[in-house]
Amino acid sequence: MALSREAYKAFEAVVGKRNISEDTAICETYRCAAAQSSAHYGPYNHRTPMPAAVLMPGSTEEVQEIIRLCNKYKIHYKASTTFWSSHGFIGYDGCIQLDMRRMKKIIIDPKNKVAIIEPYAIAATVQAEAMKYGLTCNIPGVGCSSSVLANTAGWGGAGPSSVFTGNTVENLLCVEWVLPNGEVAVTGTAGSNDGWFYGEGPGPSVRCILRGAGGTCGEMGVCTRMSIKLSPWPGPKYLPTSGISGIYYAEGLDNFRYYTLCFPTWDDWSGCVMKMNEHNLMYTGHRQFSFFGRDVKAAFLRIITNPDLQLCDLPELMADPEVIKTTESMKIEFHTVIAGLSKRDLEWKEEALDAILKEFHGWKDEWSLRPEIQKYMLTYFIRLGHKNLNYVHCGAYEGHFGLHRNNQILSARLVEPAAAIKREFEESGPWNAKVGGDSAMGSLGGLGGGGGTMGWEFFASYDAHDKKSVEKTCEYFKGPVQDFMTKNCGVTEMGSGQENSRRPDGYCWTQEDHNRKFAGMPGTNMFAYQWQVREKFNPNHLGSSYYQTCDPEYIKEFKARQAKK
Ligand SMILES: Cc1cc2nc3c(=O)[nH]c(=O)nc-3n(C[C@H](O)[C@H](O)[C@H](O)COP(=O)(O)OP(=O)(O)OC[C@H]3O[C@@H](n4cnc5c(N)ncnc54)[C@H](O)[C@@H]3O)c2cc1C
Repeated sequence: MALSREAYKAFEAVVGKRNISEDTAICETYRCAAAQSSAHYGPYNHRTPMPAAVLMPGSTEEVQEIIRLCNKYKIHYKASTTFWSSHGFIGYDGCIQLDMRRMKKIIIDPKNKVAIIEPYAIAATVQAEAMKYGLTCNIPGVGCSSSVLANTAGWGGAGPSSVFTGNTVENLLCVEWVLPNGEVAVTGTAGSNDGWFYGEGPGPSVRCILRGAGGTCGEMGVCTRMSIKLSPWPGPKYLPTSGISGIYYAEGLDNFRYYTLCFPTWDDWSGCVMKMNEHNLMYTGHRQFSFFGRDVKAAFLRIITNPDLQLCDLPELMADPEVIKTTESMKIEFHTVIAGLSKRDLEWKEEALDAILKEFHGWKDEWSLRPEIQKYMLTYFIRLGHKNLNYVHCGAYEGHFGLHRNNQILSARLVEPAAAIKREFEESGPWNAKVGGDSAMGSLGGLGGGGGTMGWEFFASYDAHDKKSVEKTCEYFKGPVQDFMTKNCGVTEMGSGQENSRRPDGYCWTQEDHNRKFAGMPGTNMFAYQWQVREKFNPNHLGSSYYQTCDPEYIKEFKARQAKK
């Protein structure tokens, strides 16, 4: 659905001819293919709708003008920055897509250990700039080519380093924010012209409205600038690397160590994670390469660390006795980087780790101790630049089971029964990569700062261009996976929350749909609260349905109907 000529001309006058397009060839590239892990709402046969136009604003003033025009012409908009997530794509016909790539400034304030960033400052660049001052930033599991601001304003943000740096919600300080009505708010100390160093003021603190716990997915206006808290980086000012494209080795990280820590049981596994957290031992903590799958991860690790190997070598590698040994060693494992803030600190951490491993019957996987693997893994976990690997099996994947942060011991105990269900599905036909059931990966810092947490997903790798593969994966999610989650309280199912955000055909839900969905749910008050916030901040409802609301009047009527029954 095209914009009216009047509206198009008005937008063009704001951003200039070069920064607006309604060309089909351009707009088509702003559609998202069948759901990926970034959405967690199931593999469906759809693409998100095509925007009526794409705009690339270059300043806060331009964003402000655009939002005012959207309110004037009642046009839905969606800001997105690095587009890893399907929640960044539009959900209505006639909607405009804001692509924030022109705004990418970074200022490091070493005194206050703060970075002031614009939307398109990606984590790789923010981190490289911060390292010059002995500082670093949290990089969420989505990787270093993602926008720090988008992750912080719009989504969760846990990753390997969150155990040390905290995750995005904890690092958010001040924000320059174009509200849904086009006014600009500046929050925290920046809001009282005192600098960008503290999120809660003096100056307004509105973290709960801007992002809440989970992120508002671009539903509450557009952030144009933000400050985030940085953490100490006990490494060199520049991260020297060697190697060839895709296989880089970090050099000179003498006070860092990488380990794959392995255990005989999941209870030992969680005991060790909790004790390491208690003693602040981890610089990064993640269960990572299990996303390849239990039976193939050791062979895959050989491939990704050796430029002479490729996918066709997998069968031969899997028959290699050395690889079989690593596969056995790494069944129940996680990956960690230990960093010494000084030489003595590193020595103490190494000793403490050995003592904890002994207590929980663990060991360091031998293959991972090789010097070249150490260097590869340090680059991998410090930079997090290999997210293409997530898609390597079939080109698409979706997370499921979502063993969550509520209770780590309980969640860890559920990995094997969940893996058995997944294995059964893998064996049922050629719908998913057959990788050995257990493909659970995720951060050990779901709550940030560690503290016995995990936020995991099992990978189901399917072919987004094969209808049967999509359908069967969907049936598996809706059937055995849902059953398992319902029976095992204490773990969080990751799909339905996202399914409630976008319809299976890629469009947004209506308010009526949301009323019907949420009125009878436990915790209805949360949806009624969000309804009130949206009415105040976004009265023309120009976002999409990721911000989930329920009309309080509808809840009252619903309750009255229930009472009569
Ligand atoms: C391979 C992969 C792995 C992942 N692993 C993790 C993980 O370990 N941990 C985790 O937390 N998440 C993970 N995710 C989810 C990921 O964090 C989100 O998809 C993330 O938000 C993507 O961010 P992005 O930087 O590409 O931003 P975008 O996709 O550009 O935007 C993210 C959200 O922020 C909004 N937004 C963007 N710019 C602005 C702005 N200027 N103002 C206001 N709102 C804005 C968008 O509308 C969107 O809803 C993963 C995703 C993928 C694809």
